[in-house]
Amino acid sequence: MKRVVSTSVQPDQYQADACLVWCSDNRFSKLLIGFSNQKVDLIKVHGGAANLMGTEEEKQFVLNQIRSSLQRSDPPVVALMIHMGCGVYGERKIPMREGAYEAEQEFYFDQLRAIKDIVQEFLKEEGLETEVTTYLGDFDGLIKV
Ligand SMILES: [Zn+2]
Repeated sequence: MKRVVSTSVQPDQYQADACLVWCSDNRFSKLLIGFSNQKVDLIKVHGGAANLMGTEEEKQFVLNQIRSSLQRSDPPVVALMIHMGCGVYGERKIPMREGAYEAEQEFYFDQLRAIKDIVQEFLKEEGLETEVTTYLGDFDGLIKV
């Protein structure tokens, strides 16, 4: 055995500033800098919040992760991220609009509205009033929607 990282880790439980649902696509990991001054519970899975529009199993996996974060770290905000060019949309063959960047962006904005509705309904069922925010990653950065 060999210790490969030496640093101190706070042993006590903490209150998170936000629960983030993020895509594992490494290109978009740099956008996490938008939350660098916050304590976050990071749920990083392929497709990020797009999983909430996926199969029932994918949806329940992410909702269970959000529930776990809320129970353990009590964040006041659930922040949901999807990004342009995400492989998940291609794999699921969700039809993409052809044409202008703005039209494609609108497709993702529609997705985020539907995803936000799903999480707000889930939180309501859980009896929680946690705020839900949504973000779109694109090739110029991060947009709060
Ligand atoms: Zn992705």
